[in-house]
Amino acid sequence: MSASNDGTGFGFSPPGESRKAIKELIEWLQGENEALKAELALAKELLEAWRDAVNIPRTNCSCHISAPCNDCYEWASLRETAEHTDRLLGVKP
Ligand SMILES: [Zn+2]
Repeated sequence: MSASNDGTGFGFSPPGESRKAIKELIEWLQGENEALKAELALAKELLEAWRDAVNIPRTNCSCHISAPCNDCYEWASLRETAEHTDRLLGVKP
């Protein structure tokens, strides 16, 4: 087998039908890849919009007085979600 420029990127030339099937598979995978990239970009946009829209107050925890305090009760879950989102978006390490 010699390196070829058959478009499969495999560096060999499979016989007719196999070659056609491989090319179709590669085209299908490229299509799937593009669709996934588009979905990922949309998901990222939505997450960024959510982060811009949500207004989480600065932590004002008083759990040392009475746990869970109102601040934690009201905001802890949303703060945690926002932190995960920031990490996912690469805003925080
Ligand atoms: Zn608290």
